[in-house]
Amino acid sequence: MAIASETHPEKDSAEVTATEKKRWNLNDFDIGKPLGRGKFGHVYLAREKRSNHIVALKVLFKSQLKQSQVEHQLRREVEIQSHLRNPNILRLYGYFYDQKRVYLILEYAAKGELYKELQRCKYFNEKRAATYVASLARALIYCHGKHVIHRDIKPENLLVGAQGELKIADFGWSVHTFNRRRTMCGTLDYLPPEMVESVEHDATVDIWSLGVLCYEFLYGVPPFEAKEHSDTYRRIMLVDLKFPSKPVVSSSGKDLISQMLVKDSSERLPLHKVLEHPWIVQNADPSGIYKL
Ligand code: AMP
Repeated sequence: MAIASETHPEKDSAEVTATEKKRWNLNDFDIGKPLGRGKFGHVYLAREKRSNHIVALKVLFKSQLKQSQVEHQLRREVEIQSHLRNPNILRLYGYFYDQKRVYLILEYAAKGELYKELQRCKYFNEKRAATYVASLARALIYCHGKHVIHRDIKPENLLVGAQGELKIADFGWSVHTFNRRRTMCGTLDYLPPEMVESVEHDATVDIWSLGVLCYEFLYGVPPFEAKEHSDTYRRIMLVDLKFPSKPVVSSSGKDLISQMLVKDSSERLPLHKVLEHPWIVQNADPSGIYKL
């Protein structure tokens, strides 16, 4: 595995010469204020001493990872995220570990969680929602081009950078379809069409999630919300999609949501068509940044 921990935060691996390569340890960083707490540990603001580069250092306890049996998931997350380079995907510069902890060196998202911002505003206006949906569509097109399916796009997994740009942050549930294909069958060459198709079509789960997210941005609640899990399940299965009269959303916005939330995954609006949809074209800021 080409490990990103051998590279410097401020450089791409290609820029780092063999002699510069090193393994990280805690002494390489000045640790600053806590940024937040997650299920498995804490996140701190930190500065890499040599480059003065500001990062977020995520500290995970091995004991908790073991207990919850998520070591495998973390390994996959690190491997996938460290290879992605896109302005709307949080960089994972590298990792290191000691006896008790695993440390992830992450890009610092200065404006924090989108979830909190959505709670504060209750819902976003159409320009803001469209700007976010377009930047996520571009990031997902990039991921799918690398055979990576995110599978868990939701407000809790989105951070906001210093300029107001969205960053997909959590790749814990993502999969690399190419790997999966190889592990399934050893080689692609013997796969029948329906299996090739089903793997390719998996990427459409991210279109569905983007539709749910677009609805939540505009209405402040997810579309199939219900008191009981079983009712949410039923509403999803029926695609029981209803648009409240308030807040007011243009018919064009509702049209885009309806085209993403389609039960037959092959009928969902492809991501490049999402970018061409009139609601996106009219509302999204091409810079991908919604200025507050
Ligand atoms: P997590 O363990 O990923 O859920 O992170 C816990 C909390 O730390 C998040 O809810 C954020 O508030 C904060 N956080 C995590 N990663 C970053 C980051 N890269 N930049 C800024 N804040 C972060």
